[in-house]
Amino acid sequence: MLRKVELGNTGEKISVIGQGTWGISGFFKDHEYYEQWKDSLRMGIELGITHIDTAEVYGWGKSEEIVGQVINEYNRDDLFITSKLFPMHFRRKTMKKAANKSLKRLDIDQFDLYLIHWPNPLVSVEKQMEVLEELVKEGKTRYIGVSNFSVKQFKEAQIYLKRERLVDNQLKANIIEQKHIYHSLPYYQEENITVTAYSPLGHKGLTDIEQSIKSKLEKIAEKHNATIQQIAIAWLINHKNIITIPKAFQKKHVKENAEAASILLNKEEIRIFYEKMVNLNQRNELKDSAETNYTK
Ligand code: NAP
Repeated sequence: MLRKVELGNTGEKISVIGQGTWGISGFFKDHEYYEQWKDSLRMGIELGITHIDTAEVYGWGKSEEIVGQVINEYNRDDLFITSKLFPMHFRRKTMKKAANKSLKRLDIDQFDLYLIHWPNPLVSVEKQMEVLEELVKEGKTRYIGVSNFSVKQFKEAQIYLKRERLVDNQLKANIIEQKHIYHSLPYYQEENITVTAYSPLGHKGLTDIEQSIKSKLEKIAEKHNATIQQIAIAWLINHKNIITIPKAFQKKHVKENAEAASILLNKEEIRIFYEKMVNLNQRNELKDSAETNYTK
């Protein structure tokens, strides 16, 4: 069984690794291409990667459509489906219409988690939060969150919520891009909010990383009989409050990603990747929290 962790303070347990779906193209692809995607998604679900991440903007709806066709074959209660509202809707009515269109493409009645994809500078945060709360009230989503929000924006958004809480911020974080791990993660750990690390393999599967980082990854990978990508994924989810959503079209990768959920790195293996700028105290906190997370 793939490891599950609690989403924020909700009591809901979700797979610590999810399936990313940015990349399911909406254009000029043949039947075989979509069938292969569906097979990879099915395989992920069967291996316990039951949390699937999509967005209205991925493939201009095609990603949601493909995910919808696959999840229809499974028990809805066994899955956790996240989608996102793109900042191209400016009125309450159009934002809600977009959410309903996503549900329709996914062929479900309710998201498990619905996120504001990026801060929308043309719509007040207050209005965006009102829309999210209304969607919960109408039963269109169980939980709400945001993506690409700074801690400041996240805190501001929480102020406008009357009944609900944001349970997740989806942020870019990986072994190369650690900004949010230093600057935001301590806040989310303190508040027990989940950080979903997106692009955990730097979007290109870590094919273009510096030799110095690659060498460190290779050394640890050898010890764990794993690939460098598995170590990079394990590194993220060994941090308290971090879950992640690698995207894998190839079945081989799906399988490896599922296996990465059970790799336990020791303190030194986690610490070795921290960038120089982090001070010793922060390192210790992160290192300790990583252990706490794993043993939860
Ligand atoms: P990613 O997951 O960092 O990397 C995907 C690349 O890694 C693909 O080329 C994939 O190859 C390869 N790969 C996957 N597993 C592998 C493994 N075990 N070994 C070797 N290579 C492996 O890229 P991403 O798509 O940017 O990020 C993941 C997801 O995060 C997205 O799909 C999306 O759901 C989400 N996301 C969210 C935002 C946001 O603004 N909220 C932004 C970007 C992404 P194959 O596909 O060939 O298997």
